[in-house]
Amino acid sequence: MLLLRQLEFAFQTVVGQALRLPNSKTATEAGAQHFGGKDVDLERRARELLRSCGAMRVARELRVEWNSRLQTAAGRADYRQKLISLNPQLFEHPAEIDRTLRHELAHILAQFRAGRQRTLPHGVEWRQACRDLGIADEKRCHNLPFPASERARRYLYKCPHCQRDFPRVRRIKRSVACLACCRKHNGGDFDPRFRLKPLSSR
Ligand SMILES: [Zn+2]
Ligand SMILES: [Zn+2]
Repeated sequence: MLLLRQLEFAFQTVVGQALRLPNSKTATEAGAQHFGGKDVDLERRARELLRSCGAMRVARELRVEWNSRLQTAAGRADYRQKLISLNPQLFEHPAEIDRTLRHELAHILAQFRAGRQRTLPHGVEWRQACRDLGIADEKRCHNLPFPASERARRYLYKCPHCQRDFPRVRRIKRSVACLACCRKHNGGDFDPRFRLKPLSSR
C-alpha cells in the first residue's frame, strides 16, 4: 500500500552531509542509507529551471543535495540556506526525483518572488510557481512509493565509526557493516570494525 507522505517545507538549517556520492547509482543494502551530499547534475537542472523563471539571483546560490537523514519527507526546501535536500530513498523510484525537485523548487521560487512577505507553504504563490515549473497538477501531499513506513522500521542500528543511523524493518545479521566506511577505509570489503550496532528496537 502506498503511503501518503507530506513534503515538508522548513526554514530550519538542514544538517549537511559531507559524504561523497558512490560511483554507482544503485542504492542497495547499507549503501542506500549512505547516499549523501551534493548532486551536481540535479543542481544544474534546478538552476536552469529557476533561470527560466527569471529568478537569476537565487539560481546562482541554489544547492541540491541528498540527505539520508530525511526519513518522512521526500524532499525539503530551505529558502534561507538556498538548499534543497532530497531523500535518498527516491533512488529506488527514479521517476519521482524530478517531480520532487520541482516541488521543492516551487517553494524556493515562491519565496523568492514574495520577497520579505510571508507566504503559506502550499499557498497561491507556491501553486503559481508549480505551474511555472511545469508541475501544474502538483498536490501538497503526494503518493510516494516508499516501501516501508516509519512504523515498520522497528530496528535502529548505528555505524560505530561514522555514527550514521540505519533504520531497518528487520533485525539484521552480525555480518552487516556500514558500506560507506568499508569503502572508505577497507577497499569496499567487509570490515568487522564497521559492523552495525543495534541502538534500540521500537
Ligand atoms: Zn511542499
Ligand atoms: Zn560508517
